[in-house]
Amino acid sequence: MAALRAAELGARTALVTRQRFGGMAANDGAVPVRTLAHAARLIRETRQLGRYGIATVEPILDYPRLLARVREVVEDLQAHSGVRERIDRLGVSIYEHAGVAHFVEPHTIEAENGLRLKGEKFILCAGGMSRRLGVPGFELTVTHSDAWDLTAVPSSMLVIGAGATGVQVASIFASFGSRVQLLQAGPRILPGEDEEVSAAMAAAFRTQGMEVREDFGVIGSFEKAPNGVRMHFSKNGIRGCAEAEIAVVAVGWVADTTGLGLSAAGVETDQRGFVRVNAYQQTSAAHVFAAGDITGQLMLVPQAVNAAFVAATNAVRGATLPLWKQVSPIGSFTDPEFAQVGLTETKAREQHDVVIAKVRFDATPRTIIDGRTNGFCKLIVNRAAREILGCHVVGERAVEITQVAAVAMTAGMPVNELARIPLSFPTYAAILGRAAYVAIRQLGLEGAGHQHELLNSTASEPARTKNGRSE
Ligand SMILES: Cc1cc2nc3c(=O)[nH]c(=O)nc-3n(C[C@H](O)[C@H](O)[C@H](O)COP(=O)(O)OP(=O)(O)OC[C@H]3O[C@@H](n4cnc5c(N)ncnc54)[C@H](O)[C@@H]3O)c2cc1C
Repeated sequence: MAALRAAELGARTALVTRQRFGGMAANDGAVPVRTLAHAARLIRETRQLGRYGIATVEPILDYPRLLARVREVVEDLQAHSGVRERIDRLGVSIYEHAGVAHFVEPHTIEAENGLRLKGEKFILCAGGMSRRLGVPGFELTVTHSDAWDLTAVPSSMLVIGAGATGVQVASIFASFGSRVQLLQAGPRILPGEDEEVSAAMAAAFRTQGMEVREDFGVIGSFEKAPNGVRMHFSKNGIRGCAEAEIAVVAVGWVADTTGLGLSAAGVETDQRGFVRVNAYQQTSAAHVFAAGDITGQLMLVPQAVNAAFVAATNAVRGATLPLWKQVSPIGSFTDPEFAQVGLTETKAREQHDVVIAKVRFDATPRTIIDGRTNGFCKLIVNRAAREILGCHVVGERAVEITQVAAVAMTAGMPVNELARIPLSFPTYAAILGRAAYVAIRQLGLEGAGHQHELLNSTASEPARTKNGRSE
């Protein structure tokens, strides 16, 4: 996007990248991981067939065939992306497989393949990488990227780190048949999520047979074991160990500034090592802009693309366009899915007088029809302003449901307006409508959303409690 936008505005533009065009989302992150997650979904769909009277046998996964499908999807998306074509049409010079590029002086970069380019302005979009731990034997561990080199599904797996990446790897491989131990240093998995989401996800994983260990302690080392790798850790002076065929480490994402030679251009990083930018995506060096994971802001593709648009606009036109405030839905394609937008209940209660409306998935028609009754949709509303502050969902189509909430929040739609929309019956989106209706009943508002009372719930009128919460 940065190259496309700069060229669109008339700048003579070069795009230099270490490996293949497309970055991580296309080649190693979102797209391939989603393809694995889709395979996991197909397996669980297949297991449901008997319940609907369709005879079948237990699904058998051919992992090499699945990886071939992943490669097929990656190629197909690249072929149909249109971005490459647009960039080419705009006359951008693309230097793929250039190796690591670095500043040799403020206006000159050199790449490992010998390429040397001078520029008036620069936009850094070098992304991030999995955080490494400085413990003995760390080289025996792997990251999510190593899934592409496996020839078979490992019989057992340690997943260390239960943030978004860790839980996705754990969930996907558990559904492929690996015995998974998910180890989290902190007191709960998914620490960035609403507490009820963390608890529901941990409970769902345990029900599926995954071993989830919160607060497991501090890692001491890794060593080779007869059947894989052993991790040594300690907690309150007591030593423990865990063992599996492979150990996947997903303990955070850091900026990929190694080798960029930032000091030669006068570009500063923050305490976490990310490139520091202002509201115009401009770094401490006025001629260098940055966007995406390298800046450590919300590390997701749509946010990276928006920031790149702003960075390129400002690089060409001067720093005039600030990055706009964005309501960002975030979700993961685990089993069950989970997703959020806005404030968590804890954060909302710190700042506002709120009502909390929760609709359980075992009490709505569509989830019952689909046999997907594990989960809930929780809506957090500012009592006085009727403003939707947050939405948190666990369960089937959670990610899609929060998109609808994000649209309503971006539009500044009060909860009573949301409740009034006759969302299609029976749908997952209508679960959100039902939650809005539950919220307005708590607010004591009349005259909206009665269709939800009739259509989108199987439960009777929700009980109201003192702390502004109803289920
Ligand atoms: C497992 C996983 C799943 C994810 N799933 C999702 C998802 O579902 N949805 C979502 O929105 N986000 C997802 N993300 C996050 C998303 O992939 C990133 O936020 C996004 O790719 C960031 O884009 P970027 O352009 O900043 O960096 P990247 O996509 O990482 O691109 C940076 C590029 O710069 C190159 N590079 C680095 N250093 C240099 C150098 N010195 N010289 C030349 N080239 C260099 C790299 O090789 C790379 O090609 C996921 C991430 C992971 C790890």
